Amino acid sequence: MTCSDFLKELTDYLDDSMDAQTRAELEDHLQWCHNCYVVCNTTKMTIEIYRDSHLYELPDDLRKRLRSAIMGKCQNHSACSPETDKGKSPGSTKTT
Ligand SMILES: [Zn+2]
Repeated sequence: MTCSDFLKELTDYLDDSMDAQTRAELEDHLQWCHNCYVVCNTTKMTIEIYRDSHLYELPDDLRKRLRSAIMGKCQNHSACSPETDKGKSPGSTKTT
């Protein structure tokens, strides 16, 4: 089984609508192919999020707090590198 075979069967696999033989082959592929493992997991999680989307609706209050926490982090982050002209990205020196 190749990666493209795997990806072709992935939705059936996640839907649980395939024969045991194919399923075993997919699971075998997952054992050694990290790439497909990640794709499989991500797809599975995405499907689960869509299915149970009500679980992911945060209360307004919490959402606001999260948002300001994230915004605060971003601002802190850019403030952490005040000397912008000191370490001009090495490697991209344009001397035209
Ligand atoms: Zn693969």
